Amino acid sequence: MKQLLLLSCLAAGLTLPLGASAQRKPAPAAKPAATGNAIGAIKEADIKRDLFALAGDHFRGREGGTLDELKASVWLADQIRATGMLPAGDDGTYFQWFSLQRTRLAKSSTLRIGTHEIKLNEDGVVTAPTNASVNAPLVYVGTGSAAELAKVDVKGKAVAVQIAGAPTDGISYRRYVFGKFAGQATELAKAGAVAVVFVSDAPSQALYDHWSHIYERGRYSLPGAASTRVVSTPPVIWLPASASSWVQQAGQQLTAELKVESFQYPSVNIVAKQPGTDAQLKKEYVLFSTHQDHDGVRAPIAGDSIYNGADDNATGCAALLAIMRAFKQQPARRSALFVYQGSEERGLLGSTYFSAHPTVPQASIVAVLNAEMMGRNAPDSAALLGSTPPHLNSSDLVKMALAANQAGPKFKLDTEWDKPTHPEGWYFRSDHLPYARLGIPAIMYTSLLHVDYHTPRDEPQRIDYAKLTNMTRWMYLTGWMVANRTAPPAREPGFKLER
Ligand SMILES: [Zn+2]
Repeated sequence: MKQLLLLSCLAAGLTLPLGASAQRKPAPAAKPAATGNAIGAIKEADIKRDLFALAGDHFRGREGGTLDELKASVWLADQIRATGMLPAGDDGTYFQWFSLQRTRLAKSSTLRIGTHEIKLNEDGVVTAPTNASVNAPLVYVGTGSAAELAKVDVKGKAVAVQIAGAPTDGISYRRYVFGKFAGQATELAKAGAVAVVFVSDAPSQALYDHWSHIYERGRYSLPGAASTRVVSTPPVIWLPASASSWVQQAGQQLTAELKVESFQYPSVNIVAKQPGTDAQLKKEYVLFSTHQDHDGVRAPIAGDSIYNGADDNATGCAALLAIMRAFKQQPARRSALFVYQGSEERGLLGSTYFSAHPTVPQASIVAVLNAEMMGRNAPDSAALLGSTPPHLNSSDLVKMALAANQAGPKFKLDTEWDKPTHPEGWYFRSDHLPYARLGIPAIMYTSLLHVDYHTPRDEPQRIDYAKLTNMTRWMYLTGWMVANRTAPPAREPGFKLER
């Protein structure tokens, strides 16, 4: 990733010592001094101990909507209680329960091509749950070029397309393959195809191995969300590279009976607070956000099937525990609210639910500071998402975060990953997003992607604990400034995300 120095347009804020922005204003009552914080309560040894416990095999990867997520959440609530934070969930507990709607292909679904019985989720996957009954001749169109498609009438047929010729770097490759699924499948369906079969080539086999386990799980959403609606569109089937040898044979029939099933699971947010010290400002909250779930148990890599998610996102979980200890030692004028959001990996579901059903009045949340993957990559680099337009929804908040960075760890901040042109779309992939969409000032602290992302190799021993401690202190110092300044962070007028 490209490391850049801080934005020059914000440079004025960088030279300010912590608290200086407050000092330049007419003196507010009870202004805390920079030395009044409890940053010393944030200790690397605590963070390391908590992270090793949460990202241990005992919790089996904390998959959203499973008992493993619930078990990890109960453990976290016990740690939170030990910090002295008060419960702020439902009914005087640390928990806010919500339901996930899961929609997937029923196990009774069948698929056959010629003489090949395709065991779904073993020999092939259907990329979106769909109710479909297909009995049609299969026509092979090579790589699906315009010239090849011109030779065949696809109407009423199942169409097989060989994936080939994709760009070779990881990000472009994934975008190419999924773009093909979305674009070419839609085109073929429009032309009358009744099913579309994509066949991996050797380079796309690794992508198949990873993503077939994601498709197998189906779709997750909050009940009633648009994505739970099942539509009966021509099925899009994805086969491994081993099918290349036989799928092109002429005269094969494709028969499929696909049935969708949909049901609900419980998931949970964990919510705690440290009340503020100011009679008025304590009614407002600085929200520290993270997610406790990860990817559970799935395809083994090098013999390990437990996706422990040490960086993603035990780092955020351990960081928030450390920040709680600091707020317990020295409360701020505003209240601090801590929200661990469940089922983030299933589509930001806990944060979508909490932001719509907060356990404190929505208007009382003055800022959201979100911790997402904070312990990898170069020790002196990090990123602050939500710091540049169109993701910037409070330059006031960002200035405080940049000042806190200068007063604390002095990370070199990447600015590439916050750009709307960045292929990863990182800004849209964590729990600050639902709050930002509501107009609440929101930023995300992250040390960005790495090769072990969403693999069993995202393990506690690969975390840079000194860096994670610095990230935690940076978040804390920002929150401390926000919680003590009389005026809440100003909101950017006309804020509008690109999607
Ligand atoms: Zn994450």
